[in-house]
Amino acid sequence: MKPVIRVTSDLDQNGDTLVQTRYIQAVRQAGGVPVILPVGLEAIEEVCDRLDGLLLIGGEDLDPYLYGEEPHRQLGKVLPERDHSELALFKTMADQDKPVFGICRGYQLMNVAFGGTIYQDMYAQLSEDLLQHYQLTDLDYAFHSIDIVGDSRLAEWAGTSEVRVNSLHHQAVKEVKAPLVVTAVAKDGVIEALESTAHRFMVGVQWHPEAMVKQKDALSLKLFKKFIEAASENR
Ligand code: MN
Repeated sequence: MKPVIRVTSDLDQNGDTLVQTRYIQAVRQAGGVPVILPVGLEAIEEVCDRLDGLLLIGGEDLDPYLYGEEPHRQLGKVLPERDHSELALFKTMADQDKPVFGICRGYQLMNVAFGGTIYQDMYAQLSEDLLQHYQLTDLDYAFHSIDIVGDSRLAEWAGTSEVRVNSLHHQAVKEVKAPLVVTAVAKDGVIEALESTAHRFMVGVQWHPEAMVKQKDALSLKLFKKFIEAASENR
């Protein structure tokens, strides 16, 4: 039986449920069955009992209220109902030690769930010498380099200490909280990946591997494969 992976969903400006097809295709390509449910807090535990893994997709900025800050003037749109739904989902899956893979916003949410913080707008809050992290080129193009921290699962999967990734974010992880540890950093010091040292599979990346699997980017494929593999062990 293939593992069942909940792919979180966004709300568009009409309140309609929206998931970019590339997330669905990446899960399928790696051997998982994607399921999509609307944003909401109903029956979280019962739903998680039936899931083998959770893919937290990208999207809007997290509400800084969640990490104890007032909104910076450069903060983007926030969707409080989506934040609450995903935090509850994440915490329940973490409690059950089921595999979670967080991408971009999803990766930042993992850190916030453990009490970590986010730069609401890194260009306003960090040095002006930052690299460009919001590429205007197609998202399937690997745009900047990252250094992978040794002694991590990411390092094991990458098999090299440096790779190139795409980049589409104006926010960044600030303070990281245990059990998460930093596993990759861009050349300007911006944190680009985290993983848990206390869970079977809890991995987050700032970039968008789902946009890189189509042209067979090695690390992106590996990330989805390892995620689905961990979810299969759950079956
Ligand atoms: Mn980046």
